[in-house]
Amino acid sequence: MVLKRIPFLLSVFLLALPVFGQQQSASKPKPRVILVGVNGMELDIIRPLLLKGQMPNLSSVIERGAYGKLRTVSAPNCPRVYSTLFTSTNPEEHGVTGFLVGGITANTNMLKEEPVWSMLSKSGVTVGMANVPATFPVMPVNGYMISGMLTRGKNCEDGVLCAPKLSEVMGGEAVYPKSMQAELLKNVGDFYIDCERMPAAADLKGHETEVIDKWLSKVQLIREQQTKLFEYLLTTHPTEFTFLAQSCEDRTGHWLYPITPFNVGYNASINGVRMDAFPDQYVAFDKVLGSILKHVDENTYLIIFSDHGIKPLREFEEKDPHAHMDHEKTTPVIAKHDFADGDDVPGSFFAVGPGIKHDLRLMGLGASVYDVAPTLLHIYGIEQPKQMRGRVLTEIFESPDTKVAVKQ
Ligand SMILES: [Zn+2]
Repeated sequence: MVLKRIPFLLSVFLLALPVFGQQQSASKPKPRVILVGVNGMELDIIRPLLLKGQMPNLSSVIERGAYGKLRTVSAPNCPRVYSTLFTSTNPEEHGVTGFLVGGITANTNMLKEEPVWSMLSKSGVTVGMANVPATFPVMPVNGYMISGMLTRGKNCEDGVLCAPKLSEVMGGEAVYPKSMQAELLKNVGDFYIDCERMPAAADLKGHETEVIDKWLSKVQLIREQQTKLFEYLLTTHPTEFTFLAQSCEDRTGHWLYPITPFNVGYNASINGVRMDAFPDQYVAFDKVLGSILKHVDENTYLIIFSDHGIKPLREFEEKDPHAHMDHEKTTPVIAKHDFADGDDVPGSFFAVGPGIKHDLRLMGLGASVYDVAPTLLHIYGIEQPKQMRGRVLTEIFESPDTKVAVKQ
């Protein structure tokens, strides 16, 4: 499955791309935004951790900003939702409808609508992105891009839910500009681009505790590498718009969600071993957030979101023999998010920054993944293009009219 198609759409998107950092250098500084995606962050798991004081950094963001649920799309999964968030269009419109599209792993050549980073780049905003799902092969931006989940490589030929190292990437570029790859290998190391593949049922049988512990330590290694990468990029390559993402939380939840014996798919030898494994991912994420917060001053917007939540299997999965396996049909899965009704597994949204209301709770499902791109454009004073289906989340701003040419 080599990618043959020339990404002609990308060149169309980026025709007006300014030379890196030059065009706007004389104008006044643009807003700075750090956007952090946490794959499948589940508020049911987060809330007890906040109460116990185990996520002090996220707590501080909540106190100083706006937060709530984020409505997602139907049957949500990572490429489907992220591409909706990138473009503020329906999956059928942007073309990345799932992990596989027409039998081929979702990739950026399939994207039929213009992503927000392309619009920002064209407007002269410097853009930096790392580990964002569904950004492989990388696209040219006014800055840099390092791909994330769905990157193909050695022992990860289809790129689905597996972890190639930077040096092992195949079938496309994982770093833009290409010259940055050697620099990253030298200064950050040969990091894993995505989270670890979940173990197969056959590998677990009889060695459950050992396999679980080994898997969790690999996940922690990957997180440490990602933290080092983020720290390096934020320090040595600061950009006006920076988009970073984490994927290990969701991966852990699928098979180590802390379920009880009455839940569908419960297996004591797996699910009774490390009940804290999934909550611990968020405690670990909070530390990553702490290192990102060091780069957030009073003039920086920080937006954290998840593309969807994740919940234990439901009564209607009990009779489905495939429900307990991931799409490769090898891993025992006890929690998922691709429920037909996306409202069963809303994502979450946290925003803090200049002019953003403090301690504001967003009620209901009024904010959606479609609204993130229009809100980003609003912050930069860029008019929302007509194909975008979302809206600016004006309710989070103290004075929503100050920055943008709002479209009537
Ligand atoms: Zn998932």
